[in-house]
Amino acid sequence: MRSSAAPALLLALAVPVGARGEPPAPAEPLIAIRAGTHIDGRSDQARRNQVVVVRGRRIEAVGDAATTPVPPGARVIDLTGATVLPGLIDSHTHIFLQGEDPQDGGYDAQLLRSPLALRAARATVSARRALEQGFTTIRDVETEGAGYGDVGIKQAVEKGYIPGPRMLVCTRAISSTGGYPLEDYAPEIDVPKGAQLVDGPVEARKAAREQLDHGADWIKVYMTHRSWVDAKGDLVSQPTLTLEELRAIVDEAHGWRRKVACHAYGGEGLHRALEGGCDSIEHGLDLDDASIARMVRQGTWYCPTLAVYYTLWGPADTPQGQRDRKRVEVHGPSFQRALKAGVKIVFGTDVGGFSWSDPIAQEFPRMVELGMSPMAAVRSATSVPAEMLGLAGQVGVVAPGALADLIAVRGDPLRDVKELERVGFVMKDGAVFKNELAGPP
Ligand SMILES: [Zn+2]
Repeated sequence: MRSSAAPALLLALAVPVGARGEPPAPAEPLIAIRAGTHIDGRSDQARRNQVVVVRGRRIEAVGDAATTPVPPGARVIDLTGATVLPGLIDSHTHIFLQGEDPQDGGYDAQLLRSPLALRAARATVSARRALEQGFTTIRDVETEGAGYGDVGIKQAVEKGYIPGPRMLVCTRAISSTGGYPLEDYAPEIDVPKGAQLVDGPVEARKAAREQLDHGADWIKVYMTHRSWVDAKGDLVSQPTLTLEELRAIVDEAHGWRRKVACHAYGGEGLHRALEGGCDSIEHGLDLDDASIARMVRQGTWYCPTLAVYYTLWGPADTPQGQRDRKRVEVHGPSFQRALKAGVKIVFGTDVGGFSWSDPIAQEFPRMVELGMSPMAAVRSATSVPAEMLGLAGQVGVVAPGALADLIAVRGDPLRDVKELERVGFVMKDGAVFKNELAGPP
């Protein structure tokens, strides 16, 4: 007994102990980033020659290079030839969709032919692509028939098994019978649906409870589904859930201190979404003035997802082709009137609706073409959605105390917002994920 006790005692003496007897925590990594230009996600102006000090997962200090010392022992990352920004936030993604080619069976093939493991494997690639492109936080707004797969992918990212952005997930989404694909199959055949379909406020509340119980951070509802151009040439959207059904969902979600994202194009479904107290309007292609005024009054967020509607148009002489063109025709003016009225606009893309290998940042030039300043467009993908997501001060801003989610681009995104399609440096939670920019240009 004595012979084994002596080495143990020596070992104990060799390890310094903390105040309460346990060994001190290992020192957190200390990094100082030298930024040639710095956009902090909140301010109107960019700043030149800044230093950002990162300790562990968080930003410790930000300031002018002349007055902000690099702490002794810090690893220096030289981005003096680049513009440093907060990690970007895409508030409308689908990691379980892959921009399906109609030639390959389109959306239906995902649900009918892909084993869930294949869909999950591809979702891990989507998550990595988001991070590679500088999107360090996403709100993923439903799995399109892949159940609670988003909760699993989120856990895999959080536990460090796979690289990916910080995720807020919606799980299955909710619509009504007749309110979501798969459709157009023989009525005798039961086919899976891309959302959880409910009828009546009791079923609606139960679906929300199930989804919240299984890990939904947000609830996603579809308030409109089919759309077409009517005889007068107007875009018409079929409403789905009733006001009573939506109210049951919103009441349940808000009780859990969660929010509700509403897919709504316009018309009756949009009016019900706002009357029912939803928190964000997704797409909002065809906003009337009364709805815009109400969104301002209620503080409703608007996630327009402009770019995705420019892809995959049907032929011009078909009802689908006419609808596709009409959607874009009304979307731009809706965005412009909402912008002018002061609606809180968040950057969202519907990526997954288009391929994850396409640039997610292609949404920025669409917003700028419609009159948003490049700086406001950057804020719509940083501090503005951070507030919507309940993460104000944590993400979407480069400031002391925030999580160290930082990106950089070689050029000046305020002069050409397309520079954000070429993110060359990504840090998430204080860890460098990619750096192709180190050193002067
Ligand atoms: Zn979507």
